[in-house]
Amino acid sequence: MSGSRPRIARLAEHIKNQIAAGEVVERPSSVVKELVENSLDAGATHIDVELEEGGVKLVRVRDDGTGIDPEDLELALAPHATSKLTLPEDLEHIASLGFRGEALASIASVSRLRITSRARGSSRACRIDVEGGQCSLVMETGSAEGTLIEVRDLFYNVPARRRFLKQTATELARCLDVLQRLALSHPGVAFTLQHDKKRVLDIEGGLDLAQRIRRAFGAELAGALLPVEAQAAGLTLSGYVAPPRLARVDTTRQMWFVNGRFVRDKLLLRALKEGYRGFLFDTRQPVAFLNLALDPSRVDVNVHPQKAEVRLRDERAVFGFVAAAVREAVRKGDLATPGAALVDSALRREARTQSAELVLFPPAAPREPFRLELHERPVASAQASAADASPAQAPHTHAIRAPLTAALHAGAGLAAGGFVQVAKTYIVRALHDGFEIIDQHALHERITYECLRAELAQGQCERQRLLLPELVELSRDEAVLVAAHVEDLASLGFELQPFGGETIALHSYPARLERPRAAELVRAIAAALQEGRSLSRERLMEEVLHRAACRASVMAGDELEQEEMRVLLERGRALESDQTCVHGRPTRIRFTLADLERAFLRRV
Ligand code: ADP
Ligand code: MG
Repeated sequence: MSGSRPRIARLAEHIKNQIAAGEVVERPSSVVKELVENSLDAGATHIDVELEEGGVKLVRVRDDGTGIDPEDLELALAPHATSKLTLPEDLEHIASLGFRGEALASIASVSRLRITSRARGSSRACRIDVEGGQCSLVMETGSAEGTLIEVRDLFYNVPARRRFLKQTATELARCLDVLQRLALSHPGVAFTLQHDKKRVLDIEGGLDLAQRIRRAFGAELAGALLPVEAQAAGLTLSGYVAPPRLARVDTTRQMWFVNGRFVRDKLLLRALKEGYRGFLFDTRQPVAFLNLALDPSRVDVNVHPQKAEVRLRDERAVFGFVAAAVREAVRKGDLATPGAALVDSALRREARTQSAELVLFPPAAPREPFRLELHERPVASAQASAADASPAQAPHTHAIRAPLTAALHAGAGLAAGGFVQVAKTYIVRALHDGFEIIDQHALHERITYECLRAELAQGQCERQRLLLPELVELSRDEAVLVAAHVEDLASLGFELQPFGGETIALHSYPARLERPRAAELVRAIAAALQEGRSLSRERLMEEVLHRAACRASVMAGDELEQEEMRVLLERGRALESDQTCVHGRPTRIRFTLADLERAFLRRV
């Protein structure tokens, strides 16, 4: 037996490096990342990247950094050789992008690599070549100050890896992505990218973050960015987020940097999403470019060979801080969908199809007529005329928030005839410089939800008792869920009691709900409990409020009187954020005069 047992032997150095390379060097973009990070660590202010065939044939990076001394050239290529760490405790507070000392050795083991470098202030340049782990002698040559690294024929000696590479265009896109991230996190440094002799990216050193975003992702996004600036307890968050309407289906425009290092961190992504909660459709992803700066000792970057994962030491503090800062920025922004975007797409469509029809009003399904009750308490003064004019008074319910009443009586509202209902679904309102189209349901839902929340927060949620409880039959599991949440629901103002079998009795609901179709409410609550099972208690109750607000609001297809529309719009104005519905759909689209002029080709 023992005669056939394989013997243990130490691996040859170049095989070790090839194994290490498997972790660090996945494709050309990994080479671009490692080389450019080295240039940045060397204090470069100009970095030029040249690629051939998506980087597979050649990645060439030239920088104007500190350079490498001729006597260090061979060492730079050795594994675990670095100028960025000396003492073990240095690992506790890393401020450079590199520190593992293995990138060059790894790359050299799977390519043909040449380093040419002239140290700053030195008159001579030297170069070294490596192939399959074998170094040449160091030779003197001519070159500008700084370092030039060329990596040819990636994976020429690892066919298995080579087969995994994608088409040129895909590899190029990945390289571009990496370079853009590095450029966004290093204002002050100029970057260029050439592919097969064509210029692909050009970012001058003087461009700030917003200008860099414009260069990389275009004017529409750049023009809409909302600045984020926050500081607390040694944490600084800065950068930009985009308004919810520019959200995407994927996360490719979410860029997180921690102390200037691009990272993929679940905690930060979650905090970002949390900041957008209520402003964004659930399946959509926010767009953000954010840098979190903190003392290097509060973050561990030595988690993964590619260094894109980090471990933040005080996660809770960071999460709360980030979510609050993002939220603050998002709510300050203008959340309405600008008409300009619609006009642009309509014009494009027209150019294609020769038909200029703007399909803004989908036909609404017929529905029962509906009365929006105007919960206005007659004001104890002679000027209370607007409220008196309401078509439906509801004395039992309580007043609209004070600011609204004040606005009404001050005559600060809308001129009569300033708005009109279209297709029983939208309200079109004239503005001094254009008009806006409001989704009546989305707006009413937001108002109801915000009012409910405000009342609950102040602990003064008024209830409307039903003389006869409304009995609603649910499915078995829904009834069980409702029974299990009786107390939580009661704290929201919904008194529900099991009534035998699968029947649930609704005894009262928050008086704030203006359109309580009881059975629908109960079903909506049951559905929220059912679908939100994995949520925390607090989030689950929020979801219940969302659904209840939705069910108890004006629907698409409900005809509204002038007065009802006026009150709805006024109440919207009194809210802090009335521009998206609770689920993040916009409540309004705005057309400015400029948009109209463009649409009518008065201006191009
Ligand atoms: P690390 O970046 O983790 O130190 P690398 O293998 O990437 O490891 O690089 C090894 C060393 O080579 C670096 O520590 C640095 O001293 C030197 N080096 C690499 N690239 C450059 C460059 N562009 N300019 C100056 N020095 C460089
Ligand atoms: Mg490095």
